[in-house]
Amino acid sequence: MIEKLKILYQLQKVDDQLDELEELRGDLPNAVEALAEKISNLKNEISGKEKLQKESLKKREDNDEEVEKLKANQKKFKAQLYQVRNNKEYDALTKEIDHTEEHITKLDKENNSLADLSKRLSDEIEIVKPQLDELKEELKIKEAELKEIVKANEKEEGKLRAKRKEIEAKTKRPDYSAYIRIRKAKKGKAVVTIKRSACSGCHNIVPSQRQLEIRRNNKLFFCEYCGRILVSPEVAELIE
Ligand SMILES: [Zn+2]
Repeated sequence: MIEKLKILYQLQKVDDQLDELEELRGDLPNAVEALAEKISNLKNEISGKEKLQKESLKKREDNDEEVEKLKANQKKFKAQLYQVRNNKEYDALTKEIDHTEEHITKLDKENNSLADLSKRLSDEIEIVKPQLDELKEELKIKEAELKEIVKANEKEEGKLRAKRKEIEAKTKRPDYSAYIRIRKAKKGKAVVTIKRSACSGCHNIVPSQRQLEIRRNNKLFFCEYCGRILVSPEVAELIE
């Protein structure tokens, strides 16, 4: 049993060291992630606007083609005006001419607003682009900083990870699950010892009868205040 307690305490020690390495990175990993997200959002924004511009251009080209056709028709209708034989034909033709004229005006108007939209999108993209460049630059710097820190501790971290794997393999599954669960809930510390008769996790006094039981090192005990796994000072000393 004492072996099991030693293993849990060892696991905690290795995780403490890994946590320390993690802490050296400070807020950098979060900052890098946040910047990358901002950049991706801005890129999406720009490409969305560029797509709208392309669609707008295509629509304008189609409209221009249509207007050309309508204008050619208009020319024909106007020439036919000189050849009409009666009022009915004349009326029908002028109606056609008016109708075509309206259609041309409508398409021209549509093209004007599409051109306005495109211009507005261009302006908006021009505003966003320098922001994007700035963020990219910032990300590059932060990534480089983070890389340097990670690299400086690469060897140590590698060793610790390997050691952790070994210890984890020796840990019984239910113990490991409990360890991970408590570690998560207690921000890192899942296994603690007794110092000056108190739980070193929450500093509440451990009743002396309980302390005696814990010192027997033959059972897993949890602090009744904070729920952490309590091991005897002997176990801690054996590991440290
Ligand atoms: Zn406690």
